[in-house]
Amino acid sequence: MNAEAKTGERATWFADVVLPLAVPNLYTYRVPFEWNELVKPGQRVVVQFGKNKLYMALIRKLHQNPPKDYQAKYIQDILDAKPIVNETQLKFWDWISAYYLCTPGDVLNAALPAGLRFSSETRIILNEEFALDEVAEDFFTEKEWKLVIALNDKKEMSLDEAVVALEIKSVQPIIQSLLTKGFARVKEEIRDGYKPRTESFVRIAALSETELQKAMTELEKKAFKQLQVLMAYMQLSDWHTGKPKEVKKSRLLAHSGVSASVVDQLVKKGIMEVYSQEVSRLLLSDKAIEKANDLADFQQAAIDEIHEHFKDKDAVLLHGVTSSGKTEIYMQLIEEAISQNRQVLYLLPEIALTAQLVQRLKKRWGNKVGVYHSKYSDNERVEVWNTLVTPKENNFSVIVGTRSALFLPFSDLGLVIVDEEHDGSYKQQDPAPRYHARDSAIYLAHMYNAKVVLGSATPSLESYYNAINKKYGLVELKTRFGGMEMPEIDVCDVGEEKRKKLMKSIFSPFLLKNVEEALSKKEQVILFQNRRGFAPFIECNVCANVPSCINCDVSLTYHKQADLLRCHYCGYSTGLPKVCTACGSPNMQIKGFGTEKVEEELMIFFPQARVARMDLDSTRAKHSHSKIINQFEDREVDILVGTQMVTKGLDFDNVSIVGVLNADSGLHFPDFRSPEKSFQLMAQVSGRAGRKNKRGKVIIQTNNPDHPIIQQVVKNDYMGMYLEQIEERNKFSYPPFTRLIEITLSQKNQDDLEVVAPDLAIELKKRFGEERILGPEYPVISRVQNYYMKKILLKIERDKYSSKVKGMMMEALNEFYTMSKEHARTRIKIDVDPQ
Ligand code: ADP
Ligand code: ZN
Ligand code: ZN
Repeated sequence: MNAEAKTGERATWFADVVLPLAVPNLYTYRVPFEWNELVKPGQRVVVQFGKNKLYMALIRKLHQNPPKDYQAKYIQDILDAKPIVNETQLKFWDWISAYYLCTPGDVLNAALPAGLRFSSETRIILNEEFALDEVAEDFFTEKEWKLVIALNDKKEMSLDEAVVALEIKSVQPIIQSLLTKGFARVKEEIRDGYKPRTESFVRIAALSETELQKAMTELEKKAFKQLQVLMAYMQLSDWHTGKPKEVKKSRLLAHSGVSASVVDQLVKKGIMEVYSQEVSRLLLSDKAIEKANDLADFQQAAIDEIHEHFKDKDAVLLHGVTSSGKTEIYMQLIEEAISQNRQVLYLLPEIALTAQLVQRLKKRWGNKVGVYHSKYSDNERVEVWNTLVTPKENNFSVIVGTRSALFLPFSDLGLVIVDEEHDGSYKQQDPAPRYHARDSAIYLAHMYNAKVVLGSATPSLESYYNAINKKYGLVELKTRFGGMEMPEIDVCDVGEEKRKKLMKSIFSPFLLKNVEEALSKKEQVILFQNRRGFAPFIECNVCANVPSCINCDVSLTYHKQADLLRCHYCGYSTGLPKVCTACGSPNMQIKGFGTEKVEEELMIFFPQARVARMDLDSTRAKHSHSKIINQFEDREVDILVGTQMVTKGLDFDNVSIVGVLNADSGLHFPDFRSPEKSFQLMAQVSGRAGRKNKRGKVIIQTNNPDHPIIQQVVKNDYMGMYLEQIEERNKFSYPPFTRLIEITLSQKNQDDLEVVAPDLAIELKKRFGEERILGPEYPVISRVQNYYMKKILLKIERDKYSSKVKGMMMEALNEFYTMSKEHARTRIKIDVDPQ
C-alpha cells in the first residue's frame, strides 16, 4: 500500500477476508482511509457479518475493486499490528480448500489455534492468575481498565455485553490487548483460550541509597524478619553488581522461609514492590546437549542416497524395517537443515508417539525443539505460534507435531519428516477440512522449497507406488540396527485347535506356553486384540437376537467393568438385559472377545503376572496413556494387552513375545484397503518383539492360516503384498490409479433420503460422466445417531483430476440443494481421498 503515498491521493482499498464460518466465499470489506497504511494480508480484523454479528476475520487479499453484488461494509477494527499468517500459509490454505473441497473458513478454523480466534459467541473471563493490586497504575488504558472492572464484577461476559458495558462499538481490540497482557482470557466450550502465564516478581522500590540504608537500620531494630527477606532478595538478585537480576516472589519466599505477609509489609512500607510479568511456558526444558551417534555404514549410505535423490526429487520414501535406525537418519538430516538455518517439521500420526521422540530430540537440540499438537493446551499452542511469527534468536528449529502442525507460520521450512507415513491417523475425519497430512505436507514443502522424507516399515501402497514410479526417491533398509534378527513369526490355526478341543478359552496352548516361558525369564509380552470392551456383542441362544443401539445400526458392545452395553459409534449405553428383548428367554450369551476379556482371562491363567490394558477406554484420562507406557518401560507390567494403540512405533527393549489373538477380523472387512491395513497392523505389532539383544517371537492366531496376507506377514514379504494388492487396485480402478471422492448424504427421515439421494447422483453424472459415479448405496453401517446415510462414490482417473473438480462439485450441490425443502435439509459430507 504505497501507491497513494507517492501520489498523495487517498486510494479506496478493499479487503477480501476469510470468516471463521463455513461460507463458500471470501467476503469483501472496505478499508477506512485512515488504515490504508496499516492493513496487510494475514492480519486479523473485526468485521460485521449477518445480523449485527461481529467476527474475527483474516485478511486474505487487498485490492481496489468494489464487490459487484453488494455494498461493502467497513472493517471495524484491526487486531494485529503485523500479519500472524504469512503469504505462503495463505496459499497453502487456498490449496487445502480447493483440493479437499471445503470452505476457506473450515481451513481457518483448523489452522489457527482457538486462542487466536474469537467471535460474537466468545465469552471472556478474567485470568485467575491475575491480581489487581499487583499492577502498576499505567498498566491499563482507560478503556481496558473499565473492562477489567466490568469483568471483575460479572465474572464472564460475551462480546455483546462488553459493548454495552464500555458504550463503544468495537471492543475486540481492547479485549485482544487484555488477552495479550494476560489479564483476560477467552472461555472456550471445549478448551481454554490463550492465557500467557504471568508470575509475580519482587524488587526494591525506587529508593535512594541513603533512604535504603535508613530503612534497613529501622528494620534491624523493629522487624528482623523483614530485614532477612530484604537481604535474601539482595543475595538472589546479585544486588551488589548494580544490575540486579529478576527474582520471583515464590523463589524469594522459599529462599527466606517466611510467609507472604512479611513481603506485604515491606511493600506497604514502600521498600519493596511486587510486579507481574509474562513468563513463557515453552522454554523451560533442560539444555542438555548430547552428541550425535556415529552412524553405521549402512546408515551413512542411506543418507548419501537420500541426498542423491534430493538433487532431482522433492520427496524420498525411506522404507526401513522396524528398528533399522530410521530415526537416527532423520536426526542427521535435521542436523544438516539446522546448520543451514532452516526449519524442520517432524510429523507423527499420534500424540502418543510424540513424548518418546521429543525426549530423544531435546537431548540433542534442547530448546530448539518445539512441540505442537491438539492435546497441548491452547495457551502453549498460541505461544509456539507467536514464537514462530516473530523470529527471535532462540527460535525453534525443529517442530514435532501431529497433523495440525502443518499450519504453523514457518518462515523458512527446509525439511519435513513424515514418520509412519502409512498411518491412517494422518487423515482428518471430522470436521472439514478432511485433509491428509502426508499429502498436504508434500504440497507445503513444495511451496517452501523444502525436502520431504516419508518413513515407514510398511509404506502405504500410494507412496510405494510413487516411489516405484520414480516420483519419489526410494531408499530401503532391510536389516535391523546392530545386526538384530527380525522376529520369528509362527501361525497358530485356531480352527484346528478348536476341532481338537485344545483351545484354552481364547488362547492356544502354544501361545500360553510361550507366554509362560517369557514370564519365567522376566521378559515382557504384548497381546494385541483389535476390539475394546469385553465382548463385541451378546446374542440370544434361542432366537439369535442381538441387542443393538437405538440410535445406530450397530450391535452393542458389552463392557464388563462398567456392566453396560455400549455403542461405539454414539456412546449410547444401557444395562444388560436380563432376558432377551425379542423372545423373553433368559438364555443370553456373550460372543467374541475384546481387550477387557483378554485382560480378565490372563489373570486366570497367569495370576502372578502384572497385566495392563491399553485401549480407548483405559486411556481417556489425561496422561493415562503415557503412564501405562512408562509402567511397561519400567517393567512394572509384565503383559500389555491392547488395541492398535500398542502397534504404533513405540520402543520397548524387553519384549520377547507378541501375540495377535485374532487376525481374522481385519482380513474380511469389506473395504479395498483392508488387506493392506491388516498387513500393516500385523507387521507393525510384530515389530515390537525383540528389540535389544534377543530375537523375539510373534504368534498369530487365525482361522485362515493360508490367507495370502498372513503368509506375507510371516515371510516379512512387503513386496509380495504390494504387488498383489496393486494389481487388485489396478483391476478395480482404485487408488493410486484413481482419486476417490466420497459423498455422504444423511437425513433423519429415511424415506426422504431414499428420494433425494439419486438426484445428487444424477447431477454428478451430468458433470463427471456416468461411469465415474457409483451409488447411492447404504454403507455397512447405515444409521448413526439417528441419521440414515447413503454414499456416492466419485472415481476420477488420476491424470484427469484438476482444479475444475471443485467448481463442478459446487455446481452439482447448488443444483441439488435448490430442488426442494427435503433436498435442502440433507446433510452432505465430502471426503476427498477417503482412507
Ligand atoms: P527405527 O526408527 O527404524 O525404528 P531407530 O532409529 O529408533 O530405528 O533405531 C533403533 C535402535 O537402534 C535405537 O535404540 C537407536 O538408538 C539404535 N541406533 C540406531 N542407529 C544407531 C547408531 N548409529 N548408533 C547407536 N545406536 C543406534
Ligand atoms: Zn431371544
Ligand atoms: Zn449408537
